[in-house]
Amino acid sequence: MKITFLGTGTSQGIPVIACTCSACVSENPKDKRLRTSAFVEVNGMNICIDIGPDFRQQMLREKVSRLDAVVLTHEHNDHMIGADDLRPFNFFQKQDMPIFGEQRVLDEVKARFQYAFIPHPYPGIPQFLLTTINDSEVFKIGGVNIQPVRLHHGTLPILGYRIEDFCYLTDVKTIPEEEFTKLKGLKVLVLNALRRGPHHSHLTLSEALDMAKKIGAEKTYLTHFSHDLGPVAEWEQDLPEGVFPAWDGLILEI
Ligand SMILES: [Zn+2]
Ligand SMILES: [Zn+2]
Repeated sequence: MKITFLGTGTSQGIPVIACTCSACVSENPKDKRLRTSAFVEVNGMNICIDIGPDFRQQMLREKVSRLDAVVLTHEHNDHMIGADDLRPFNFFQKQDMPIFGEQRVLDEVKARFQYAFIPHPYPGIPQFLLTTINDSEVFKIGGVNIQPVRLHHGTLPILGYRIEDFCYLTDVKTIPEEEFTKLKGLKVLVLNALRRGPHHSHLTLSEALDMAKKIGAEKTYLTHFSHDLGPVAEWEQDLPEGVFPAWDGLILEI
């Protein structure tokens, strides 16, 4: 399995428009963060987890020539608003793009991309094949089993995804106790860490480190960073053993 971090920034990305803070003016390429998303290549399947506003740029940067499916964690714009840019895949692959998500999330796809669901579609509109999933059933993309994990993003119930011994959890604030049984024996965990200061719907850095310790994956990569955390060079050396910052373009092989 190969995982490419397409983006590792929070909803505004880094740099933030018009901001002159130390993270936003950093020249370290690791501090340039597009909106959070990951590309997973497993058993011949190419899968995108979330499809935010930077999706086009991310596909071009990573030279992705085939996409088999998209899985959505939740309906916030930074995780799903790139779906219009699935059109080239519709064109070249001559098929509707499978998108997996909870019913509420798919209803939001229909609402925000209303023009894709009209009765007599005109040529060139995005074509989606929506499949509803839930937190209790494993689903399949090709021969790949995907285990959804219930998470809470503040008060919003959202999903994370486990594929074999890899698990991708973003926009987490809390995880229901019963879900931890799905998180045993992980080789790689991806987990969000927004900043140091408190936030109502995202884990802070210290909360993320506590959560990572509780889950106990062999390696944990943090993502979905705010510029408030500062340039990565100022804090990455303080992370405990086995915990690393992700950055855009980082590739992991499991
Ligand atoms: Zn800034
Ligand atoms: Zn987000």
